[in-house]
Amino acid sequence: MFPIEKYHMAESVQDAVRALAEDENARVIAGGTDVLIRLHEGHADYRNLVDINRLDELRRIWKEDDGSICIGALASFTEIMNSPLVREFVPVIGESVATVGGPQVRNRGTMGGNICNGAVSADSACAALVHEVDLVIQSPDGERVEPVLGFHAGPGRVNLKTGDLLTHFRIRPENHENMGAAYYKYAMREAMDIATIGCAAGLRTKNGAIAELRLAYTVSAPTPIRCPEAEKTAAGQPLTTDTLDAIAQAVEQDVKPRTSWRATKEFRMHVIRTLAARVITEAAAKLGEQVA
Ligand SMILES: Cc1cc2nc3c(=O)[nH]c(=O)nc-3n(C[C@H](O)[C@H](O)[C@H](O)COP(=O)(O)OP(=O)(O)OC[C@H]3O[C@@H](n4cnc5c(N)ncnc54)[C@H](O)[C@@H]3O)c2cc1C
Repeated sequence: MFPIEKYHMAESVQDAVRALAEDENARVIAGGTDVLIRLHEGHADYRNLVDINRLDELRRIWKEDDGSICIGALASFTEIMNSPLVREFVPVIGESVATVGGPQVRNRGTMGGNICNGAVSADSACAALVHEVDLVIQSPDGERVEPVLGFHAGPGRVNLKTGDLLTHFRIRPENHENMGAAYYKYAMREAMDIATIGCAAGLRTKNGAIAELRLAYTVSAPTPIRCPEAEKTAAGQPLTTDTLDAIAQAVEQDVKPRTSWRATKEFRMHVIRTLAARVITEAAAKLGEQVA
């Protein structure tokens, strides 16, 4: 049923990296919720697999001494949603992965796979962009850290090279402290559907004004994106409906939605503008602030 030609069960991170480096066609299998579907559909691109499921160190979720929160690439969506550390320090990551598929997919699928598959609709991508998550990658040349900003290279493409294994995500304190954040997934059905548009805001306020806004979207451009024009428009402005209107206008310069069978470009633009106000209002509420 699955046209697998070579299969290697990795016994350690080094073993996985070695197996990946030896064969440029080898691909990682984590939860397999994308890989097995592609194989089932007859795609040849996952015939040589390096399975990382025995690498329990990649399932951990922990806090470092400097306050960074780390999420192992192999932690399932369910483990992330239920993690006390995620709930306390980066709750929007747990809230966004809680919108993925159904319970079976959330029990198997991982945030590592969700970011590494390069999908423009990935539900963890907006929260990752808002928290400016670092990707810690092990390669034959050692460890390197890549920001999630710029990691997506195009539809279904990311900046991973032969031999690369994502080991964990790191969220540094400057990217989560004193930040209220919210995610909303607009989909055609309430459950088991990928996003028509996903949107997250990360907000910091000072004396009732916006000190910093981070606004991110999925399915609004060829890759998940942040919104520099909207963020600039928000900086220093009072938390009012007029400011939210100005942000919703500015966001039009940041996005490039397209028409697909799910929705027209015009409808997507309407959802994009609407969601900006919604997620910023929710992010403000998490800081105990209200939009005047
Ligand atoms: C029924 C169903 C519903 C779904 N609904 C949603 C949804 O609502 N929202 C959503 O965002 N997604 C959805 N998905 C997609 C899927 O569940 C996710 O993309 C999932 O996060 C993939 O994770 P995985 O561990 O299963 O990855 P895998 O399938 O194992 O791998 C995915 C890709 O990432 C690579 N990869 C995985 N881990 C690593 C690593 N550590 N280092 C380097 N490369 C790696 C693999 O080589 C592969 O290219 C759905 C899937 C199904 C089957």
